Amino acid sequence: YQGKRGTADIVVYSGDGISHSQQWLVVQAELRHALERDELVLHYQPKVGLPDGEVTALEALVRWQHPERGLLPPGDFLPAAEHSGLIVPLTEWVLRRALTDRLGWTAAGQSWAVSVNVSVRNLEVAGFPDLVAELLAGTGTPADRLVLEVTETALAGDVDTVERVLARVAALGVGLSVDDFGAGFTSLSHLRGQPVAEIKIDRKFVADVAHDPQSRAIVRSVIELAHALGSRATAEGVETAEVYRWLIEAGCDEAQGYLIGRPVPWPQVDPAMFAVPGAVSEEVSATMIEG
Ligand code: C2E
Ligand code: MG
Ligand code: MG
Ligand code: MG
Repeated sequence: YQGKRGTADIVVYSGDGISHSQQWLVVQAELRHALERDELVLHYQPKVGLPDGEVTALEALVRWQHPERGLLPPGDFLPAAEHSGLIVPLTEWVLRRALTDRLGWTAAGQSWAVSVNVSVRNLEVAGFPDLVAELLAGTGTPADRLVLEVTETALAGDVDTVERVLARVAALGVGLSVDDFGAGFTSLSHLRGQPVAEIKIDRKFVADVAHDPQSRAIVRSVIELAHALGSRATAEGVETAEVYRWLIEAGCDEAQGYLIGRPVPWPQVDPAMFAVPGAVSEEVSATMIEG
């Protein structure tokens, strides 16, 4: 199999003489076991509505509690999972666990939606919408409490199947979100005709709005585009109170980022943590930027 992104045949020899592709085979074999042994864990990062700062949803972000190497971020193993096709069962595991975890926070009185990142590989599986429907029914989750985040750059697979699957998932009432908007080959073409619930503005642009007029112009126009499509505009990577306040003024609907909360196991999400009326105060911002 030749990787679509042209990375399959790159072989880099590390000091111990093991090639990069051999390391990938090791990661793939270990990852298969990790799924069987339940070594994956989900951390959740809150999204808040603007300007009130109330939590609206938690985004599931997968980590691997590796027996020797500790807690690994997705960047360390998702490329191997994508490459091997293991991303399909991995995402199914994430979806199942995220909907189950959501039962935990609904029992605790929170109606927050849950966002799950999906790979284009999942969208190439014709049965994916049936699985989503089954898991929603099995957990009694209203479809509008689930959001599937799709990265634009990933929307490059088997186009016909991907579009059919997206349409069927949207027809269930599940929210579709375009992740990292503006980061790659910007294209909404696969989602044309689908209701797009959310556009997430890539954190590159968001980080720079405080200092860079061009980033401000880009973010403003993405917010406008989102609204013209009837979508929410969500800013990702909000790290400072200055950016947070600017987003409120720019009419952005939701925000997510280290300022608001880092990814943590869901019981550690503090619902009151950012429910500040209006914009966040200077005092709060100073401590949050340092912390
Ligand atoms: P993403 O979906 O765009 O998630 C946002 C990433 O940015 C997360 O990294 C998050 O921890 C990080 N982040 C959030 N706020 C800030 C901030 O204020 N500043 C900075 N510098 N970073 C921030 P993470 O958890 O390492 O995930 C990286 C990517 O891995 C995700 O990007 C997503 O594309 C992918 N991913 C994570 N979990 C899953 C999963 O279950 N399935 C799939 N298919 N992909 C996943
Ligand atoms: Mg995401
Ligand atoms: Mg993102
Ligand atoms: Mg991102």
